[in-house]
Amino acid sequence: KFITLDGIDGSGKTTQLNVMKQWFEQNNLPVVFTREPGGTAFGEALREIVLKAGNQIDPRAETLLMFAARQQHLVDVILPNLNKGINVVSDRFTDATFAYQGGGKGLPETDIDTLQTWVQGSLRPDLTILLDVSLETAMQRIEGAREKDRFEQEDSAFFTRVRDTYLRRAAAQPEAYTIVDSSRDKDWTKNQIEMALNQLFK
Ligand code: C5P
Ligand code: MG
Repeated sequence: KFITLDGIDGSGKTTQLNVMKQWFEQNNLPVVFTREPGGTAFGEALREIVLKAGNQIDPRAETLLMFAARQQHLVDVILPNLNKGINVVSDRFTDATFAYQGGGKGLPETDIDTLQTWVQGSLRPDLTILLDVSLETAMQRIEGAREKDRFEQEDSAFFTRVRDTYLRRAAAQPEAYTIVDSSRDKDWTKNQIEMALNQLFK
């Protein structure tokens, strides 16, 4: 199965990725964890370029780089593993492009749709876990974080659009998404994620 974890900066992905790693270990299921932007040496190089460039880079150029990294990630990591029957969990995937480059930076959704089809064909995650959190809570968490990335480049209106885009896409396709309220305590969130995984692999 192909599972993705997504959400705005400060939504607690790192903590919940560890929950997912533990769950796969406990259930003895083969899995590879990977991330976007990144996942390959080429993708990680593009990640650094994009995040460093911040708002210097044109949103379309940024989107093309995200999909260039994604293409390589699919060919080198995601597809070979899925083809061998190994589960793949990606920390972010195309939803992030819809949310950040689409909702955040205003790129038309239809353009991202076109690129999604071009790069992925019909491949979509079997499940996307969306960690949802208020802007206030996210900002508090980011304050203490080592890597602030987008939080230093964008304002709260940007992140509101990003969050709304995630929620709108999840609501449009409830069977493909599990939305987890990530503002509650860690154990509650952990439990929700474990329930979603149990359901997917039952
Ligand atoms: O998820 P992670 O913290 O690794 O992401 C690094 C940075 O890249 C974050 O600030 C995130 O908002 C940004 N990003 C982006 N567009 C994407 C994916 C990630 O701006 N499509
Ligand atoms: Mg981060």
